[in-house]
Amino acid sequence: MRVLKGKDVAEQTYGELRERCAHFVGRYGYAPSLAVVLVGDDPASSSYVASKGKACEDLGFSHVDYHLGEDVGEAELLSLICTLNGDDTVHGILVQLPLPPHIDEEVVIKTIAVEKDVDGFHPESVGNLLIGRSGFVSCTPLGIMHMLDYYQIETAGKHVVIVGRSNIVGKPMASLLIQKGRDATVTICHSRTEDLPSITRQADILIAAIGRPLFITASMVKEGCTVIDVGINRVEDPSRTRGYRLVGDVDFESVAPKSSAITPVPGGVGVMTIAMLMHNTMVAAEQLAAKREQ
Ligand code: NAP
Repeated sequence: MRVLKGKDVAEQTYGELRERCAHFVGRYGYAPSLAVVLVGDDPASSSYVASKGKACEDLGFSHVDYHLGEDVGEAELLSLICTLNGDDTVHGILVQLPLPPHIDEEVVIKTIAVEKDVDGFHPESVGNLLIGRSGFVSCTPLGIMHMLDYYQIETAGKHVVIVGRSNIVGKPMASLLIQKGRDATVTICHSRTEDLPSITRQADILIAAIGRPLFITASMVKEGCTVIDVGINRVEDPSRTRGYRLVGDVDFESVAPKSSAITPVPGGVGVMTIAMLMHNTMVAAEQLAAKREQ
C-alpha cells in the first residue's frame, strides 16, 4: 500500500513554478499577480487566504488582498471585481467562498473575467472543461489529476467512482476523467444514490468528496483500490491545543490496509489545491502577457 503524499507532488509543482516565474519576471519585468478577496472574518476562510498569500510570496508572485466587512453590499463587491478585471497589473482573481447569504455567489463568480478566473468556477470555464477545450480548471480536481500522474496511476479503462457531485469537486473531477486521453469510466454518486456500498465496491479508483468524517469504511472498498480522500472535516479533540483535529471522508485506518494506494488527511489532496491555484495564476499571467504583446 502506497501513501500518496500531496506534499511531494506539490514540491515538484512549486519547483517548476519558481523557474517559470523567474523566466516570466526576466522577460516582462513584473511578477504574476493574484488578487484575493475575502468577505467577513470566518476563521477557516481567513486561514485559507493567508496560505494563498504565503504561497505567492514563496514563489515570487505578487498578491494583493482585499478584506471586506461581513455586511458589504453585493454591488460594492461586484464593483471591486470589475475594477480588478480591468486592472492590467492583476492576472488572477479569487473570491474566497463561502460568501455571506445576502450575496449571490453565482453572480459574483460570473462577474470575474474568464481570463482571470484562476479558481475555474466561472460557467464558461466549466463549459470549456466539459467540452474538452482549454481553460481554467477547478484547483482540487486538477490537483488530484497531478497526483495521479505523479504516482503513475493509470485511469484509462478504470472504473472511477466519485462520491459527491459538487460544482467545485465532484462534477469537474468527472469531466476531467472522461476526457480523451484520461479515458476512465466514471460513476458519480450522491446522497440519493441507492445502495452506495455496492457501487463504491466496484471502484478501481474511489474519490470521496462528501464532507462527512470517516464515511468510507473498509467494507465499502474492494481489495487493491486506489482511494483519494478529498474531505477535510474538523472533529472535536480535547487532546489537541486547538480543540479539534482534521480527518477525511475516509476511515484511513480501516481502508488503508485494503487499498493499493491512498491519500492521507491532512497531507494529501489539500496541499495540491493551493499548488494548482498558483499553477493557474502562472498560466493566467503568461496568457495575458502574451495577449498584450500581440
Ligand atoms: P458539498 O458541496 O457539500 O458536496 C458534498 C457531496 O456529497 C454532495 O454531492 C452530497 O450529495 C454528497 N453526499 C453527502 N452525504 C452523502 C451520503 N450520505 N452519501 C452519498 N453522498 C453524500 O462538498 P464539497 O465542497 O464537494 O466538499 C466535499 C469535502 O471535500 C468537504 O469535506 C470539503 O471540506 C472538502 N474539500 C476539500 C478540498 C481540498 O482542498 N482538499 C477542496 C474542496 C472541498 P447531494 O448532492 O445529494 O447533496
